[in-house]
Amino acid sequence: MRVITTIAQVREAVREARCDGQRVGLVPTMGALHAGHETLIARSVAECDVTVVSLFVNPIQFNQKEDFEKYPRTWEHDLAVCERVGVGLVFAPSNEEMYPRPMMTYVEPGAVAEHLCGRFRPGHFRGVATVVAKLFHAVEADRAYFGEKDAQQLAVIQSMVSDLNMAVEIVPVATVREVDGVAMSSRNERLSTAERRAAPVLYAGLLAALRRLERGEREVRWVREAALEVMEREQLVRLEYLEVVDAVTMQPVEHVDGAVRVALAAWLGRVRLIDNVGFVPHGE
Ligand code: AMP
Repeated sequence: MRVITTIAQVREAVREARCDGQRVGLVPTMGALHAGHETLIARSVAECDVTVVSLFVNPIQFNQKEDFEKYPRTWEHDLAVCERVGVGLVFAPSNEEMYPRPMMTYVEPGAVAEHLCGRFRPGHFRGVATVVAKLFHAVEADRAYFGEKDAQQLAVIQSMVSDLNMAVEIVPVATVREVDGVAMSSRNERLSTAERRAAPVLYAGLLAALRRLERGEREVRWVREAALEVMEREQLVRLEYLEVVDAVTMQPVEHVDGAVRVALAAWLGRVRLIDNVGFVPHGE
């Protein structure tokens, strides 16, 4: 496994691999790798000849300086995970490599970034889309792997790739969960014991909404109510949003007649968690 820190070197290594007819997969991450990341990486290793994992905590996607500074950095552990799973190249650029001077050009996502997290984290998806576009240009991969855990991020990237004709195939990967249903996230470590004990109620709420959809309910207010009923029982959870949105455009719907996602963000103490489930009506 090679660890590369410059754009010029990663570009050259990837071009060489592709000239040899090898298929290259990219897994963009911010490090602090857990079993969720590992699943994305393993999928790329299984499907591609060379897998590039990028490790970069992207300053321009954080709304709060404190959140950026507190983001966990576990370099040795991350390299060990990559090595174990069979990664060929780790791309770990410095801030100076990625942002050598003040940026004058950004990728500004449209309506897809308006609702859900976009409402509460101004500028976040612009930062995400911009850094992912930069990574796609540095690492000219055939495929790039993204988790459904961050469903709006995935939709932002898919629309960017389609709108801007980027030559990379986006591969969505299902959310990886702890045994009690909590979606894996580096933020889970920051939960207190009581908050961690309360956290499964988020997925339980989403499953209640999903069950109502599966039983044929199509009015969103009743679908939301099913989730809210479950989550209201947990005092430690402060819900930021719970929405049912079109699975592609991320626009809220009132009536379900196509693929949707039920998505939420909630605060447990000072930790903000997000989660979602997908639903596709059949034969209607
Ligand atoms: P991050 O390092 O948090 O930016 O995440 C890097 C990638 O891993 C993103 O595509 C995430 O959606 C994905 N990811 C993070 N947590 C999970 C999870 N629990 N299940 C599946 N994918 C995940």
